[in-house]
Amino acid sequence: SASMEISLQNPQDAQMSEPNDVVPEESALSAPTLPEEKFVVSVEVCLKPLSTARIQDVRLAMEKMLEKRSLSYIDGPIPVPLEDSFLTENVERIHICDTDEWVQNNDILLFWQVKPDVHVFQLSEEGPCEELSGDGQLSTFNEWILPAKEFDGMWESLIYEPGLKKRLLRYAASALLFTEKGVNPFLVSWNRIVLLHGPPGTGKTSLCKALAQKLSIRFNSRYLHCQLVEVNAHSLFSKWFSESGKLVAKLFQKIQEMVEEENNLVFVLIDEVESLAAARKAALSGSEPSDSMRVVNALLTQIDKLKSSPNVIILTTSNITAAIDIAFIDRADIKAYVGPPTLQARYEILRSCLQELVRTRILASFQDSDQFMLPSYTSLKEKINMPEGQEAQTLQLCRQLLETAEACEGLSGRSLRKLPFLAHAALSNPYSCDPNKFLCTMIETAKRERSEI
Ligand code: ADP
Repeated sequence: SASMEISLQNPQDAQMSEPNDVVPEESALSAPTLPEEKFVVSVEVCLKPLSTARIQDVRLAMEKMLEKRSLSYIDGPIPVPLEDSFLTENVERIHICDTDEWVQNNDILLFWQVKPDVHVFQLSEEGPCEELSGDGQLSTFNEWILPAKEFDGMWESLIYEPGLKKRLLRYAASALLFTEKGVNPFLVSWNRIVLLHGPPGTGKTSLCKALAQKLSIRFNSRYLHCQLVEVNAHSLFSKWFSESGKLVAKLFQKIQEMVEEENNLVFVLIDEVESLAAARKAALSGSEPSDSMRVVNALLTQIDKLKSSPNVIILTTSNITAAIDIAFIDRADIKAYVGPPTLQARYEILRSCLQELVRTRILASFQDSDQFMLPSYTSLKEKINMPEGQEAQTLQLCRQLLETAEACEGLSGRSLRKLPFLAHAALSNPYSCDPNKFLCTMIETAKRERSEI
């Protein structure tokens, strides 16, 4: 087909992506910046659950506050200013994002170089609205109002090789921008279908949800409401085939209603799309009732129809890395291979696990638990070569952590996040938990897990 394909990352070049491959134009980095040249940095402002302040008012107050602020910008949380009673009353937390678009190597942006782009949002606590199929046993789809409390922090918790998440966010943001600006699709072609593929447990489904959440925050001044509908493709091919056709019709009627409201941004997440292709194949070979064929075709037709709506993004995942024979997936502009975590990613995932166990005081820390900070992978090399001193204990931990990360080669992100729990359960004395001992157990557990793959 003549459609444009932007491959975010091919399986072949997964290892080749360097932290530096998504830098802005060189001139922005190397040339001395003129005073009027500003770097846009996102500032995400989460309102308290009970706040009734208007988003617009909070944004203005935030912009004023940031204008007066003469501190440098670096990714991470900043405190809500105590002297501003309006903000302290309404704002739960403030987070600076995306400074790494402009600076690298833990560098910082000076306040006068920055143009803050403030996004104020409130998390929905409504929870998923579940729709049950036929006998009421399997749920066919879930619906969330975004940004949802369930997905808070998910984006940050997913760790990949540098650049993957950022590229995904940028492509999706560009697609939405083209739509918003009314770019003629006959002249410039693009679409809003995302496909994440790769082995199971690498965080594809989570990444889709986290991406939807992120976009709902970033685009909330354009789209007042935002929903995520999660369709479990697998459940559509349950034994209630006769019901499935009706379910698909009902589901898409609902989505269509959401989409008709132009201030709604709708994400449709279809997990395990390969099951559609499989069901079609089985139907063709006669091993499945032809009903399933009808369901697949109905689903594909509906998705095709939906694709033309400007305020829909279709997110799909597949555990099969080979080409999937489904027409609409062929046309996905945003395809990303999500592979098993690299050594750096494994280290970072395990580091975040350890931090959490220290924070919750399950692991004893030799320093103040609230101050406990293990060095990141990138700052590890210089630290490890430093003469042993005050930080000797931390360094010892880092070495062990690195060793654990090495022992975890081949484990998925999902298995890695379970490892600390399994290790804890294997401890002989789980109540006094020394981090060094814990890491030794974790290495053993990792080896056992690997032998069971
Ligand atoms: P998939 O859809 O690829 O099977 P999931 O989205 O169900 O994977 O991932 C399950 C869980 O595994 C995630 O919620 C997350 O906790 C963890 N996980 C997987 N990959 C990663 C990763 N790269 N970084 C951090 N956590 C991960």
